[in-house]
Amino acid sequence: MAGIRVKPEIKRHMKDVAQVLSIDEKLLEDANKTAESDELFCPGLLVSGQPECPIETLNGLSQYIRQCKSVLSSDQWVKEEKVYGAQLLYEEIEKIIDVFPFVTCRKIGSSVLGKPLYELRIGADTAERNVHVNASFHANEWITTSVAIKWCKEYCAALCENKTVFGHSAIDIFSRTSLSFVPLVNPDGVDLVLYGCADLSEKNEFLNGLNEHRPDFREWKANINGVDLNKHFPSNWEIEQRRKPKAPSYRDFPGTAPLTEPEAQAMHRLITEQPPDRLIALHTQGEEIYWGYEGCEPEQSSEVIREFEAISGNRYQGVKTIDSHAGFRDWFIQQYGKEGYTVELGKGKNPLPFHQFSDIYQATEGILWRALVF
Ligand SMILES: [Zn+2]
Repeated sequence: MAGIRVKPEIKRHMKDVAQVLSIDEKLLEDANKTAESDELFCPGLLVSGQPECPIETLNGLSQYIRQCKSVLSSDQWVKEEKVYGAQLLYEEIEKIIDVFPFVTCRKIGSSVLGKPLYELRIGADTAERNVHVNASFHANEWITTSVAIKWCKEYCAALCENKTVFGHSAIDIFSRTSLSFVPLVNPDGVDLVLYGCADLSEKNEFLNGLNEHRPDFREWKANINGVDLNKHFPSNWEIEQRRKPKAPSYRDFPGTAPLTEPEAQAMHRLITEQPPDRLIALHTQGEEIYWGYEGCEPEQSSEVIREFEAISGNRYQGVKTIDSHAGFRDWFIQQYGKEGYTVELGKGKNPLPFHQFSDIYQATEGILWRALVF
C-alpha cells in the first residue's frame, strides 16, 4: 500500500488533512488505522513516487497531491468491465487496497489447488450491521465476479467522493454497515472454465473424464475435485445425495459428505466466526432471487425482496421456495434464521456471454446497494 511520507505532526489535524484531500474525515481516519506515524494513506489517490522530504504543512500536502492522479467514479479503471481468472483478480484486489486503503483484505482459506481465497471488508469499526456478498461459487458463473468487482470499485469511489447512490449516502452506509465480500469462491473451477486444463497435466485425464470429453469446460460448475460447492452444505444434504450424481462430476455431485472441500470449509468458517445479518450469493442465471428456505427465513425477507424487485425495474422476481437443498444460503438461513438471497443474474445459458455484462450490471447494481441498507 502506498502512503505519502509526512511529518507525524501533520496527522494531528486530520480534519484539515481531510479537507485538503476533499474526503470525509472518518473515512480518512479509517484508511489510516494501520499507517505508520510518518505515512499518510490518501483514499482515492494513485500515489506514485514520494516527496523529496516528508511533507509538513497542509500547503505542502495540497501541492503534492496535485501531481497525483485521483481515482473517481468516472475513472476508466473503476468503470472497467472485465473477465477475472484467479490471477487477474489477485492483481485487481492489490490495486483496490492500494487506491482505497480503507478496504482490508485477508486470506480466508485456499482452494484445492492452493489458490488463495480472499475476503475484502469495507465498513467502519463501529458499524452495527454486517452484510456478506459472494460470487462464483459455480465455475461457469464467473461473470458474477466481474459484477461484484465493478460494484466494489464503484462503492469505494463513491465513498471517496462522498456521493449518494440510489438515494443513500455512501458514507452513511459505510458507517452503519460492514461489508464482507468474497469475490471468487471457486478459483480452480473458474480458471478451468476460462483457460482449460492444459496446465494441470496430472489431473488432465480425471478432468476430461468428468467433463464427458467435451471440447471445452463451459459446462463445468463444480470445484476441481468435481464437487458442486453449492450442494455441499449441511442443510438436508442427504436429500441431494440421494438424487444427484454419486461420483465426482462436472456438476451436481454433493460430495461424499458435507463440507469435505476446502472452499466450502472456508466459507463455512467465515460465516460461523461472524454470522452476517444479511447474505447475498451471486449466481447465474434466470433473473430470479431465491429468498426462503424451509420457513426458517425471517419476516423481514418478504419486505426486502419486494424492494429488490422494484429497484431492478421489476426485471428480477423473488421466488420463495425451490426444490433445492444443501446450498450455502440454504444452510445459512436454516442455521441462523437470518436473511439470505441467491440472486440469479441475467438470462440465457451458462456461461452467460460477456456482452450481456452491462445489461446485467444495470439491472442488478441497485439490489447490491439496497442490500447494504437496513
Ligand atoms: Zn450457481
